[in-house]
Amino acid sequence: MSQCGADGNPGKDIDLNQHPLAIGLYLHIPFCSRICHYCDFVKTARFAADDPASYLRMAQSYAEAWVEALQREYPAGLEFRTLFFGGGTPSLLDAAYRPFMESLRPWLRPDAEITLEANPEHLTPERLDIWAGLGINRLSLGVQSFQARGLKFLTREHSPDKAREAVRMARAVLSNVNIDLIYGWEGQDLADWEADLDEATALDIQHLSLYTLTYEGRTPMARRHRRGVLEALPDERLEAMYLMACQKLRAQGFAHEEVSNWHQPGFASVHNSIYWHAGSYLGLGNGAHSFLNEYGSPWGTRWAQDANLRWLQEGQGHLPAAPTVGGLLNMPGVQVEIERDAPEWLLETVSSGLRTDKGININAICVKTGYDFRPRPSLEHALRQGLMQIDADGILTLREEEWYRETGWALEVSLSFVAP
Ligand code: SF4
Repeated sequence: MSQCGADGNPGKDIDLNQHPLAIGLYLHIPFCSRICHYCDFVKTARFAADDPASYLRMAQSYAEAWVEALQREYPAGLEFRTLFFGGGTPSLLDAAYRPFMESLRPWLRPDAEITLEANPEHLTPERLDIWAGLGINRLSLGVQSFQARGLKFLTREHSPDKAREAVRMARAVLSNVNIDLIYGWEGQDLADWEADLDEATALDIQHLSLYTLTYEGRTPMARRHRRGVLEALPDERLEAMYLMACQKLRAQGFAHEEVSNWHQPGFASVHNSIYWHAGSYLGLGNGAHSFLNEYGSPWGTRWAQDANLRWLQEGQGHLPAAPTVGGLLNMPGVQVEIERDAPEWLLETVSSGLRTDKGININAICVKTGYDFRPRPSLEHALRQGLMQIDADGILTLREEEWYRETGWALEVSLSFVAP
């Protein structure tokens, strides 16, 4: 069985001057026209008409400060591989993005994946043309369901017909369209779910994200669930829905890249894969998260902007004239989240990798951490059963049916990495 030597930690040898920083960029747009009852994202439906414009100006000044700081830290170069407008509801805005885009353009790679999340009810041919003219080349549509009952339960504003029309409209302008669907709404059965999958795949989309409905945080639905007014679907049905998606989407030519994400060949989501495979990304806006691989420690540095808009606004007035990464991390409202160490990094890396088709690289993990890999009996058993496999390059992957149970496996795999 694979065991690898402890060559010390390669992180300490990284020379930042020699490595251009290729990074993902996320901009959070927190505005929504109304609040969906299941939603636990950072958002607000209370905003004055001029708030989005001033918010974008603020985001732009933060972005420019970060670009300057990162260029100082990484003199070998900086480029954004992706830009993702997420929300909230980025589709409430169109030409307002122009100054932000123009300001960032010199650092966007010519082939950058630029995604905007959109609600179906906001799409018009004019809006799509403006977005495409700004360089947005991928649209992620929050369809959630093609069933009227599902949309009603999820308190979405659009109808099934509007969702279909929006996908067709988007495809007429853009060659890369994702749709999000949610499964697990009250009363949904396998036939409802099959109908949603059939509708989605009949619409010539390139990417599909399928999320399980969860009742979390302080959302109205979570409160109803806690009071027992609302019944969650049994786990067995949710798992059957996941397995149905695996089987149907494979038959339709989709590749399964991550537990919740599928794509047609050539359309894997670059931005998401940065998150899943420990790439660096910069998040701007309230509640946005960021990660710089190898920065600050071999395990990288993570930070989050406070979800409260006040911190962003107050911080804006104090943006330093000659910003540094360290200076920006000390700004009000920025929480450097974790003092990371090897075990924490390991669990995170294993956990996100095991949910994907790329799995985890045992040899690279051993080199980075100094650990040996000694599979526990449960892993030996799973390998014999074919639930997981390790190839000749030391890549460990779980069978896609098991991605759904990744949490349990992540612990077992992590505990198989031991100090020599
Ligand atoms: S699901 Fe989207 S549109 Fe609905 S409240 Fe949340 S962020 Fe806003």
